Amino acid sequence: MATAFLGLDVGNTRLSAALVSREGRVLALRQDDAPPDADGAIATLVRLAEEVHATAAERPEAAGIGFGGPVDTRSGLVRRSFLSTGWDGLPLGRLLAERLGLPTWLANDADAAGLGEARFGAGRGARSMLYVNVGTGIGGAVLLEGRLHLGETSSAGEIGHMVLDRSGPVCECGRRGCLQALASGTAIARMGREVAGREVTGHEVGEAAQAGDAAARAVLDEAAGWLGLGLANAAQLLDPERIIIGGGVAELGEILFSPVRAAYRANTLGPAADTPVVPAELGYDAGVIGAATLAMEGVGAGSEA
Ligand SMILES: [Zn+2]
Repeated sequence: MATAFLGLDVGNTRLSAALVSREGRVLALRQDDAPPDADGAIATLVRLAEEVHATAAERPEAAGIGFGGPVDTRSGLVRRSFLSTGWDGLPLGRLLAERLGLPTWLANDADAAGLGEARFGAGRGARSMLYVNVGTGIGGAVLLEGRLHLGETSSAGEIGHMVLDRSGPVCECGRRGCLQALASGTAIARMGREVAGREVTGHEVGEAAQAGDAAARAVLDEAAGWLGLGLANAAQLLDPERIIIGGGVAELGEILFSPVRAAYRANTLGPAADTPVVPAELGYDAGVIGAATLAMEGVGAGSEA
């Protein structure tokens, strides 16, 4: 029987479970809205996993979890969730290992997605890589010498909370001027609202920019400029072979990538200014594929069933 791995993606609004082959192919996928508390979310994840098992011939060897907030990968603990309750200090790795009856690995969702891109997406073949997910928030992952670099406290790659403007807008972390507060989908929506004088979504700003609206284009350019600066700062430290941008905002394509690349080049010294900045390839499956890849490679300490 072919070997497969269970990938669980714990987003702030959506929960996903997938069975993923060793080649990174999604064999079965189930999704649901995320309940507002940890107990409800764990029950939903277990149900989604059971539904996946019921539809697929393969049985998973192990499970990986990508969590949408800071975690301690060595102990399998969730540090906190910014948006829903009951998560702080929760031993999510051990709890799901017991409920699923599978050895389980836990990492931040951007680390998981970055690892998935490294193995099966836009990072294939790269020895080192910086992955940045730009959605409602901004997360990141660092690959060095072919391996996910988590850092001493599992905090490596948290590029979304790199402070770029100390007098900038307040971030969800409570500080001012983080990259996330300047260039995420949420930041694009905020700037769009200031320009339009009414509530708009980041998606609407992107659509208006693509339709030729100059004010919307200026908002995207502003966000792209900050993103390029953040990438430049990170590249100056890490000098990766490739920089990969995923997430909903990256779906805008060239209208975003072109000003991001320009700002990246303008702010990077030396030959690293020529490092390719490319779109992610795994799309909305990146989360579950990446989570399954955590289990494939045994990233972090893991929790036994
Ligand atoms: Zn922040």
